[in-house]
Amino acid sequence: MELKRLCIQNLIPGMQNIDIVGNILRISKRSFKKDGVEGQVCSVFLGDDTGTIRLVLWNEEISKVDGFNQGDGIRITGFVKQDNFGPQIRLGRFGVIERYGIGAKRRAYINELSEEGSYEIRAALLHIFESSPFYEICPKCNNSLKEDESNYVCSKDGVVEPDYAMRITGIIDDGTGSIRCVMFKDQAEKILGHNVSQAKDIVLRKGVSELFGKAKYGEYVFSGKLKQNKFFDRMEFVINSVKEIDVKEEIFLLTNN
Ligand SMILES: [Zn+2]
Repeated sequence: MELKRLCIQNLIPGMQNIDIVGNILRISKRSFKKDGVEGQVCSVFLGDDTGTIRLVLWNEEISKVDGFNQGDGIRITGFVKQDNFGPQIRLGRFGVIERYGIGAKRRAYINELSEEGSYEIRAALLHIFESSPFYEICPKCNNSLKEDESNYVCSKDGVVEPDYAMRITGIIDDGTGSIRCVMFKDQAEKILGHNVSQAKDIVLRKGVSELFGKAKYGEYVFSGKLKQNKFFDRMEFVINSVKEIDVKEEIFLLTNN
């Protein structure tokens, strides 16, 4: 399903699979009784820099905004419906509500990172250190494996025939500083532009420098955890999500910080 990120002013009744971000202006809930059936309806008024719109939630949908407050950044996917008061957003079966921008993660500059924790960093991946990216994982649960003599052992599944995943270590830099980072599995595949079997093939035929030389360096929004590497006595950023720069989110962060 293709989602379209839209500004509020461009929402038109009948649109399906929309994706919008905004600030919560107000939340109001009320109970109703219709044809002997009792229920609850919740209106979430949203604004972005182009306009305002109402998200309408019914009954069990309402719990999806538990914990949200006025001023919070929010991302919604759903569809647009016309009602008596103009267009409104509904979630439908596949709609999603999640925190967005501030409040979701702490966006940080590399030179202010000092304590362990979760952060989001907009930075450029400048370099990947050359070493084999492959490591063994359990084919059943994806856990990493211990090597025991000539066997690979999963702590859950015992001796297994291993699958492989990738791990890369590199340097990201955001202009305020640089830091060593580690990426695993999907994130490593995204940066290298190849899945594990393609990458193995390239390394086998042409070596690891061919694989890393053609990686997708450049600017991303990286989310992850800052951890102390005790062995080397340095901080490392363990990345669990790599996103392309989303111009709309960047504007949102600039205007709401
Ligand atoms: Zn396992």
